[in-house]
Amino acid sequence: MRRRDVLKYILTGAAVECINPFFNSKVLGEGLKQEDTQSYSKGLPQLKITDVKTILTAPNRIRLVVVKVMTSEPGLYGLGCATFTQRPLAVATAIEKYLKPFVIGKDADQIEDIWQTSFVSSYWRNGPVLNNAMSGIDMALWDIKGKRANMPVYQLLGGKCRFAADTYAHASGRDFQEVEDNVRRYMEDGYRHVRAQVSVSGYSTYGAGSRKAIRQKEQGEIKRIFDPSPYVRIVPKLFEHLRNKLGDEVELLHDIHERIPPIMAINLAKRLEQYRLFFLEDPFAPEDIGYFKILRQQTSIPIAMGELFNNPNEWIDLISNRLIDFIRVHLSQVGGISMGRKIAALSEFFGIRTAWHGPGDVSPVGHAANLALDLACYNFGIQERVIFQEETQDVFSGCPVIKNGYMYANEKPGLGIDVNEKLAAKYPFPPDELEGSWRPIRKSDGTVIRP
Ligand SMILES: [Mg+2]
Repeated sequence: MRRRDVLKYILTGAAVECINPFFNSKVLGEGLKQEDTQSYSKGLPQLKITDVKTILTAPNRIRLVVVKVMTSEPGLYGLGCATFTQRPLAVATAIEKYLKPFVIGKDADQIEDIWQTSFVSSYWRNGPVLNNAMSGIDMALWDIKGKRANMPVYQLLGGKCRFAADTYAHASGRDFQEVEDNVRRYMEDGYRHVRAQVSVSGYSTYGAGSRKAIRQKEQGEIKRIFDPSPYVRIVPKLFEHLRNKLGDEVELLHDIHERIPPIMAINLAKRLEQYRLFFLEDPFAPEDIGYFKILRQQTSIPIAMGELFNNPNEWIDLISNRLIDFIRVHLSQVGGISMGRKIAALSEFFGIRTAWHGPGDVSPVGHAANLALDLACYNFGIQERVIFQEETQDVFSGCPVIKNGYMYANEKPGLGIDVNEKLAAKYPFPPDELEGSWRPIRKSDGTVIRP
């Protein structure tokens, strides 16, 4: 091509179209058209997304982010959970400034297309902030589709495989006796699965309360101290105590919470194997997933992993190489129900069960999304449960109910949860200069560790 022709080529825009199809209207088109979908939405008017609202509320001092998607049908809206409690305002900005203008005017029926186009709209993707923002929209669209079909979301996912989701509760204590008493209490309430965590005297121990934690105010900073060695010495003794006192029937779980060096976690897992845990959770940080292969070669203790995962590359190898037993992603952290159902389907082929993350920093909408998948997925394993406090139930009506350790759907169309926005506004985020950030936990020598 001669120089003059090159210049002409650039000026006509042909070169731009060639290197970037985004500029090529013939390639991009205008998205899916009504006639593309009318065969399966026959009889129903096309539904447009008309508005998106981000609701920030903390009814029990936990920062929750909930997304409300409004549609062209009067009164028809959906709710989704976008709660990333350590970075809620970043998620709210991602929704308000980027996803809201992106989805307004789109066909609310096209959940998968909206997910995929949102996903690539940032070019850089798979991070926790953008995934949570996408989850808020995604769950809300499933909620809308369910309401429109007059069916609970689990029906859209294939219908019930079980009458309710079996859950596990969290028992903790300052010493073995207190943990045992708390496990017994849950067993009396009908729970078959209980996670047990004990405080390590003098240390800030994950999941065991903070009563015995060392909280030193030094140079204006509250320090939380944790050293791995005392922790790995005490945990096998806890489970020896619990098995001796409680017998074999109760299913016991434990969460290492990625706090200790990988080789210590392997050693701990081997020593815990004899106590027949239902699962051992998060033995490694996501950055150390290469260790799962080594762990698997040394022990048959069941492993649960994944609450910190954001990116398919974090779970695909673990699942397809059968290196874990329970996939435990936080649904809003991976992009909502649309991604969750794919992860569940992938896991089913490899004999891996689901155990979606279900702590207090998942909104009731997120728990209802967990439950929809729990009921519909054949390879459901267990559901972490939370007790919804009174204030949370006032703001969010329709919270799933737990009886005898089973979590039941409320059988309303969609996800079955509604929000009282006026009441939600009465529970603003509690004052905190770091807006809910996870405070550092350090070893005795001052080294910061993963939480
Ligand atoms: Mg955990």
